[in-house]
Amino acid sequence: MSAFLNLLFRNRLAAMGAVVLAVIVALVLLTPLLPLQDPDITATADRFKRPLTDGHILGTDHLGRDLLSRLLHGTRLSLAVGVAAALIAATIGSAIGIVAGYFGGRIDNVIMRGVDMLMAFPYILLALAIVAALGPGLMNALIAVAAVNVPFFARNIRGVTVGLAGREFIDAARLAGMGHTRILLTELLPNVLPVIIIAMSTTVGWMILETAGLSFLGLGSQPPQADLGSMLGEARSALISHPHTSVVPGIMIFLIVMSINLLGDGVRDALDPRLRSGALSRPRATTLVARKGDIPAPTDDLLAIQDLHTQFHVGERIYRAVGGVSLAVKPGECLGVIGESGSGKSVTALSVMGLVASPPGVITGGAVRFQGEDLIGAPYAALRAKRGDKVAYIFQDPLSTLHPLYRVGHQLAEAIRSHHRVPMAEARARAIQLLHDVRIPNAEARIDDFPHEMSGGMRQRVGIAMALANEPDVIIADEPTTALDVTVQAQILSLLDDLRRARGLAIIFITHDFGVVAQLCDRVAVMYAGRIVENGPTDAVLAAPAHPYTKRLIACVPELGGGRRELAAIPGLPPMVDDLPPGCAFAPRCDKAQEACRTGDIPLSGTPPRAVRCLYPEELV
Ligand code: ADP
Ligand code: MG
Repeated sequence: MSAFLNLLFRNRLAAMGAVVLAVIVALVLLTPLLPLQDPDITATADRFKRPLTDGHILGTDHLGRDLLSRLLHGTRLSLAVGVAAALIAATIGSAIGIVAGYFGGRIDNVIMRGVDMLMAFPYILLALAIVAALGPGLMNALIAVAAVNVPFFARNIRGVTVGLAGREFIDAARLAGMGHTRILLTELLPNVLPVIIIAMSTTVGWMILETAGLSFLGLGSQPPQADLGSMLGEARSALISHPHTSVVPGIMIFLIVMSINLLGDGVRDALDPRLRSGALSRPRATTLVARKGDIPAPTDDLLAIQDLHTQFHVGERIYRAVGGVSLAVKPGECLGVIGESGSGKSVTALSVMGLVASPPGVITGGAVRFQGEDLIGAPYAALRAKRGDKVAYIFQDPLSTLHPLYRVGHQLAEAIRSHHRVPMAEARARAIQLLHDVRIPNAEARIDDFPHEMSGGMRQRVGIAMALANEPDVIIADEPTTALDVTVQAQILSLLDDLRRARGLAIIFITHDFGVVAQLCDRVAVMYAGRIVENGPTDAVLAAPAHPYTKRLIACVPELGGGRRELAAIPGLPPMVDDLPPGCAFAPRCDKAQEACRTGDIPLSGTPPRAVRCLYPEELV
């Protein structure tokens, strides 16, 4: 709650709206206690007194009634009616929407067609018709305004509910034997409540305006009772001769509607989880770069990540997700990057092409060189030309990276055509060839499948085909097989292996599974808390791990036919990267840690090709 308020008041306009609204609400709540004149007592002798004349701060109206008193009482009434109408409309509309969205089918159809019928009329006409039928009066105006806003809530909430009703947690609730009422109230309602609040906060000002409109036309509050609309209506005839009688209620309507809308927009932004972390800005096209220190010199590697530092700046906190990582691959080489979840593997991979979302991501040091050319801070156009064409990515979950509404062939062709000007027919032929290459059987037919029509392994092959589409020099695969079962995983690994041998492709393969590294990679780098703690040829590292962390990681891999052996989980958790301990980040979990491990920076040392970041490594072989 306090986080919500913090976020809300960081938005200056919303804060201003809140202050103005709070003052108005406080004033109208105190109105009965204030020493005001009776708002309805007429004194024809005092007609049209100007503001600031004796006894009448805001002057008097055409019947000599005190304007300040009428204004406060009128505002009180207008606010009450507007808020009541909003509450009624929100309650009825949301109830209709939730029921329609949850039950679906015929119930949904019948209810929503009824709602559509209401929506088919311009709402102000509809409100007029309702008041005409019920007769003028403030209560009837309230009913009319509430009624014409019910469809708005019903439609909005139904849409959200339909999306939620198909989700697994609703199925789980059903399986747990919960009744419909309970599911509606305890499972669905809390999830749609933010939407209801947002819809209300952005419409309540509108409803106040609509009520005032009806009163202005003489259909709402009846004389002598004052509300803002009727005050405006009565002042209309004296608009030119005595403008203060209309300006006073006019300014009040303006202040109320303006402050409610500003506050409402602020509430909407603050409740929107997508806008929650940090500024209300869209992510930039490339990661922000703020490099300090020297930029490392070029090497002759195909792709070299050199002393890369990537951080997340969230408020006051700095998350050092990548704290000085160096990796390099040559053509045809496969480098494994391994580490527990949260060790900074993905952030390293995404930094290469400037794909870390900014804000909050910032690259604060190092270089990424593709054929010697530094990509960090390169202009967007230069990066875009290389993304997918020279350096391609394969991500973990192809279902979330493939567009659900386009056929896979179309998406493959698009990947090709975004870098090369080729006719559609040629791109399509190439797409079929790619699907052949990744061993999708019957590629000519499968090319017109939608992503959801394919199995998980099949989709990941499409992901690989897409990465291969422009014959890149480097593929960065971020846990591409984690979501797959072992047989499919084995097929995908052998596919990647063939490709690098056949095409001289360099692969950076990110995983948390040593079994996979052993199968595919020439070299392996072990990451912990944003740094490399050990690297070397795969066989050597597997045979004789030097860092205690690597040793424990390898001990976690079960071995078929290895007899009964206890699988040693590593006790403790990886450190939070916004609060790294001094010295070795692994020391708190390490059983060999000494005093010296807890101070100072521990360098990566050893005789090439092996290196380890440890003061007391196991014997290097
Ligand atoms: P993994 O090795 O599992 O791929 P990641 O590279 O995704 O790990 O994450 C590395 C670290 O960066 C994690 O500790 C995570 O908490 C942090 N991190 C990632 N994204 C953000 C973000 N948007 N804001 C703050 N911290 C982040
Ligand atoms: Mg990851």
